[in-house]
This record gives sequence, C-alpha cells and structure tokens, in this order.
Amino acid sequence: MASPMSAGGFLARLRAEGLSVVEVGDWEHHNRNHKGPWGPVHGVMIHHTVTKGSERTVKLCRNGYEGLPGPLCHGVITKDGRVHLVGYGRANHAGLGDDDVLRAVIAEKALPHDNEANTDGNRHFYGFECENLGDGKDPWPEAQLDAIERAAAAICRHHGWTERSVVGHLEWQPGKVDPRGFTMASMRKRIRERLK
Ligand SMILES: [Zn+2]
Repeated sequence: MASPMSAGGFLARLRAEGLSVVEVGDWEHHNRNHKGPWGPVHGVMIHHTVTKGSERTVKLCRNGYEGLPGPLCHGVITKDGRVHLVGYGRANHAGLGDDDVLRAVIAEKALPHDNEANTDGNRHFYGFECENLGDGKDPWPEAQLDAIERAAAAICRHHGWTERSVVGHLEWQPGKVDPRGFTMASMRKRIRERLK
C-alpha cells in the first residue's frame, strides 16, 4: 500500500532525477479527485498523445476535450525532453484496465495479457503523456526517451519499486496501442539500469 507523494515531493523527485520541469498553472490542485479516489498508487503508466507540437499537446493534456475532461495525466513529456506538470491527483489517463495486470504490477511479476477492463486505473497509476503521433513512424528523440526513463525512475525510487512497476497503457487496457515506437521492455531495461 503506497500513498501518493505530495505534489511538492513529486516535483522535488523529478528535479532530483535531473529533469527539466515546467509547472503549468495551478497543476498541484488540478485533478479529478471529486470523481473518485486517488491512491493507493501501484505504478507508473506511459502513454503517447497522438498530437504534434508541444504547446498544443500540453494544453490538451491539461484541459482535456469534449467527453474526457483534464487533466489527462500528471506530466507531459515533450520531444525536447521537458516534463510539463499539468495536474496532480486523480487524472483521466489510465481508464479501466485488467485486475490481473494490476495484481502483477503490485507483485512486480511478468505481466499477463490484458483482456479485461474491470479496474479503475486512474486511482492507482501516475501517468505521463508523451508527445508523439503514435503512427509508428514519428521518431522518439533520445532526449524524450531519457526523460521518460528518468521520470519513471524518480517515482520508482521514491516508492522503492523496481522497473516492473512501470507499464504502458497498451499493457493495461484492451484495445490501447500506446506507447508505439519503442517497447516497454526496452524502457524497463533502461529504468532498471538507472535504478542500480
Ligand atoms: Zn494512453
């Protein structure tokens, strides 16, 4: 059972991991906590945005859109490797996923195939949206991959988690394909190295 970090603690951890962090508006109090619980937290989820342009991407992730109000994550990782904090608390990023996957994340075991959408993920995962078109062609610059690695590692370090607590949206919710363009296995390997 892990309680979420405070917003200040979250910011400090990201900076301590060497990240360039941009605070967007009143991100510390922008959340969906009025719609359901936030915590206990069990892991970190990585997404791609299907957008182009950092300004537009950050704005969308903060505000959301018709039918899905923001924040759509906690941090937006743009192609330049900066982390833009758009919200803190419950955020609309993980949706309903597989309870078997959640159990595996908690136990830090190999993930089963996600074939059920029966569990509230927004309650249990920190979320990072990463600027990418998600078409398998749009490149992932090294600065951005490095920032994903550092952001995930920062959270794992705080909670005493291994790289197995970091999952892609595609590993959680049936039908999702994000992130596309790198594998979560390769990202977890990077995070494992960083946590050594
Ligand atoms: Zn996603």
